[in-house]
Amino acid sequence: VSLFETLEAVIACAAPTDEPQLLARALATFGAQEATQRLVAAFVGAGAFAQAAIALHRAAMPNGGYQFGEVRSGRGLASIWRRGDAHALPFEAATPGLALLRATAHQAARALESETRSRCAHCRGRGWVITRDGGKRICAHGETPCV
Ligand SMILES: [Zn+2]
Repeated sequence: VSLFETLEAVIACAAPTDEPQLLARALATFGAQEATQRLVAAFVGAGAFAQAAIALHRAAMPNGGYQFGEVRSGRGLASIWRRGDAHALPFEAATPGLALLRATAHQAARALESETRSRCAHCRGRGWVITRDGGKRICAHGETPCV
């Protein structure tokens, strides 16, 4: 499980009051540049959490787009896409800002997974391997080569 996957899982279950703490954690997880860190911190300081999440999203996915929504329960909804994507992925969280942060973390986790996979010597990018008894197994990408 990558740091981005953990971040996404934490955001999915977070409360609205967790926004400042999770934005700070996301900045660290993404290894954001100083200019992004300052911008996000300024928005957080002003209580503009959705703006802070947008700033982080733009830095993490410069070619991406986003859209906010709201679900019936009043929780936040955000969809993100990259240029060329056929459709946007919607994510739900306690607030719109957290939903966008969750979507961005999910995208980063997927990008990391696909990069790790393409460099994997065991499955050579397929994502699965043949086991000794002839079955198929999801590849852990280098962690457990001989099962
Ligand atoms: Zn692999």
